[in-house]
Amino acid sequence: SIKPKIVVLGAGYAGLKTTRELTKLLSPEEADIVLVNKHNYHYETTWLHEVAAGTINPNQARFMISDVINPNRVRLIYDAVEEVNTEDQRIILENGEITYDYLVIALGFESNTFGIKGMEENAFAIVDIDSSRLIREHIELQFAKYKSDEETDESSLTILVGGAGFTGIEFAGELAERVPQLCKKYDIDRRKVKIINVEAMPTILPMFDKDLVSYAMKSLEDRGVEFRLGAAINECTEDSFIIGEDNEEIKAGTIVWTGGVTGNSVLGKSGFELTRGKVTVDGDLRAPGYENVFILGDCAWVMDEEAGRPFPPTAQAAMQHASTCANNIQALLYGEPLQKFVFEDRGTVASLGVTDGIGSVFSGTPLKGKSAAAMKKVVDNRSIFLLGGTKILLKKGKIRPF
Ligand code: FAD
Ligand code: NAD
Repeated sequence: SIKPKIVVLGAGYAGLKTTRELTKLLSPEEADIVLVNKHNYHYETTWLHEVAAGTINPNQARFMISDVINPNRVRLIYDAVEEVNTEDQRIILENGEITYDYLVIALGFESNTFGIKGMEENAFAIVDIDSSRLIREHIELQFAKYKSDEETDESSLTILVGGAGFTGIEFAGELAERVPQLCKKYDIDRRKVKIINVEAMPTILPMFDKDLVSYAMKSLEDRGVEFRLGAAINECTEDSFIIGEDNEEIKAGTIVWTGGVTGNSVLGKSGFELTRGKVTVDGDLRAPGYENVFILGDCAWVMDEEAGRPFPPTAQAAMQHASTCANNIQALLYGEPLQKFVFEDRGTVASLGVTDGIGSVFSGTPLKGKSAAAMKKVVDNRSIFLLGGTKILLKKGKIRPF
């Protein structure tokens, strides 16, 4: 057809929202829209630590894409993207090929182990539904095995979390909820189970006020999380971390790496120029040197001109990228000037389990405890509402009181 073809890669926060907005901005006569995603469902990446700990069911964190995108308006392709060939505007999928006139790359992040010896082979990582479900199942298996096999060492109950950034801390908070439940279920003394969070820096979550950081640490420690701060992980073996200057070994039955992420490796395979695994996009969110390629969410560095460094990669930002991108694609089709992306910071909240958290909202107001936990649920529900509307919010939202 002579209609322009817009292809969106990835149905996460950035890709799904861009697709939804494009269907509102453009009539079927104006453009064909194609959405490519590895699975037939969207998942809430920001809930994956809960799936991994087992505090929510994997199904609560996902919904069918065809429930929120009209398949008669958007061609839905469930396949894995392998590479983009920008020269002849072609996308290589695991099971085929498609072409595009306008491209949106929103393939999210991958775990980054920085080449730490043994980490990729031996540690779990929280990256998608399947990898998170695997962690949940593995932890439960350790409890079951310990109970059924007299020979099993107590260290098999230890859970090591490598890295105390947002993901590590939120995961530790969920483990603090889950471990007592598992102890009850398998009739195991809670004191036998260790949750150890190892962090190279002298503090956890350095972006928060000292007060909030102390509060978070105390809250987690009170619920049995141990911290090893200022201790870099040098190596990961099959059943341990080797940490710190004296190469201390900590044995565990479950090892989860939460020490860093990077952009999807499709970017590199496609020949884009990378900075620490991502593309530094222009102000209008296009890849430098490309008229028709937008890169969004965790695949992009978007510069914060005021601060002189990129904005942190968040779901909040990814959804805002989507709006600018959809408007800019419409502008390109209409021959109008493109918008510059402006980030509207609504603040940050980190959960510390179901009823606790810390946050900084409304330009710096600190929050802690139940109010932070409540705010986190508001944020989670807002996200699912923006992506799925009322129907999905009612089905999957965190609307039950705690
Ligand atoms: P994603 O939402 O991750 O979506 C990427 C999509 O691409 C997925 O659907 C995936 O299946 C698909 N995909 C990947 N590779 C391929 C391929 N090769 N082919 C086809 N499809 C593919 N941010 C916040 O703002 N607030 C939070 O509270 C928060 N909590 C977080 C908690 C955790 C545990 C984690 C890991 C992250 C959290 N973040 C949070 C960060 C946030 O999740 C990311 O910034 C956000 O997911 C980025 O959105 P995205 O659209 O770029 O990618
Ligand atoms: P991160 O990069 O923010 O944190 C990784 C942590 O691991 C750092 O503190 C780092 O010092 C530590 N680390 C790295 N190498 C180490 C080593 N060898 N030994 C010990 N510690 C080591 O990664 P993340 O937590 O996955 O977060 C990624 C992004 O996702 C962040 O930028 C954040 O904005 C976003 N996120 C946000 C939320 C939220 O808003 N609630 C939650 C999760 C993630």
